[in-house]
Amino acid sequence: MTYNNSLAYAKEQDEKDPLRSFRDRFHIPTQANGESYVYLCGNSLGLQPKATRAAIEQELVDWENYGVEGHFHAKNPWMPYHEFLTEAMAKVVGAKPIEVVVMNTLSVNLHLMMVSFYQPTKSRFKILIEADAFPSDRYAVESQIKFHGYDPKESLLELKARPGEECVRMEDIEKIIEEEGETIALIMIGNTNYYTGQFFDMKHIAKLGHTKGCKVGFDCAHGAGNVKLDLHNCGVDFAVWCSYKYINSGPGSLGGCFVHERHAHDKDLPRFAGWWGHNKATRFGMRDGFDPIPGVEAWQLSNPPILSMAAIKASLEVFMDAGMDRLFEKSKKMTGYLEFLIDDIKDERIGIITPRDPKQRGCQLSVQVKSANKALFDKITAAGVIADWREPDVIRIAPIPLYNSFEDCYRFASLLKQELLHS
Ligand SMILES: *Cc1c(COP(=O)(O)O)cnc(C)c1O
Repeated sequence: MTYNNSLAYAKEQDEKDPLRSFRDRFHIPTQANGESYVYLCGNSLGLQPKATRAAIEQELVDWENYGVEGHFHAKNPWMPYHEFLTEAMAKVVGAKPIEVVVMNTLSVNLHLMMVSFYQPTKSRFKILIEADAFPSDRYAVESQIKFHGYDPKESLLELKARPGEECVRMEDIEKIIEEEGETIALIMIGNTNYYTGQFFDMKHIAKLGHTKGCKVGFDCAHGAGNVKLDLHNCGVDFAVWCSYKYINSGPGSLGGCFVHERHAHDKDLPRFAGWWGHNKATRFGMRDGFDPIPGVEAWQLSNPPILSMAAIKASLEVFMDAGMDRLFEKSKKMTGYLEFLIDDIKDERIGIITPRDPKQRGCQLSVQVKSANKALFDKITAAGVIADWREPDVIRIAPIPLYNSFEDCYRFASLLKQELLHS
């Protein structure tokens, strides 16, 4: 692919973009001068679809009009509301409907999954994670290890990048699983690393782990809605993700959870249970022993917050209208363009730490600015870019195929170049 570093070229790409009209379906934050921000922070909080407000309004109106009867008579009855999200969410992550449910939030789901899939024994008690895992994941994993009476110092195995490198090499993952596999109870990796943007070959890792008898789960917080996931065929035991990053469902909105079909009918799995996981036909009998719903719905605890689910429903409709394959195609092209523009700044102080291979990343690029401090980033923000700064020296940017444009990429790179010239 040959790109061109000019505003005219960027605008031409936007005109040719079959998904260009989708930008109008989102609210783009506006600067004090009335111009839109260049919003490259959808990896942290996705923008609001314009349809979200009406979707939430609908539930407020139905609550107003029906009270408790809304469980059955609302336009979208609340009793089975989570089921309205399942099919679309399953498409987003490449799973079968019986394997996907929207419930709780990410860290909660991660704990629920570990209750079921981290069963340490005297000989097999370790958890393999990335050395630079997201802090919440690390706390969750460490606390589970301690909860079972083991010591994180011996039980937590870390995947480290080699000295002088930022991303973890597959051969190093293979080696650690080969050497330690028999003592590993659970492999739990962020499938797209939040810091470097590195996307791991999940199918390969799942196969390696399963060959050694480990359980394998992934945190897809930065993968869901961003990279082409194929959770069912990857064969992972479980996955968890949130819906407020790439899935545009609003701050703190509910998370998604995947449990592979092979566990769908296993009633003996240890599990923390609640009434929403119980057989729907007898749930309100309130007398029976716990009878899990087949599939991942069995892990539901509570009746869910409908207002949050309404936002997810509105967002997933936008995804389904755009089509996942078209989104991934644009994502690859636009991220490639941004990469080209950043390289074209030709300043030795900056480098991209995200893998160059499009198969090993989604749309996020992490740009390291050597010997910079946050002042540079603050200047870019003041000039109209919303991006994300990670200490000590990394700017994370994510051109989102649903609402970002080639022009956004161009404007960001020109601003970065300008600020570097003056610093
Ligand atoms: C965003 C993110 C989280 C956040 O967890 P919440 O429970 O939704 O607050 C956890 N892990 C990873 C890898 C993330 O990227």
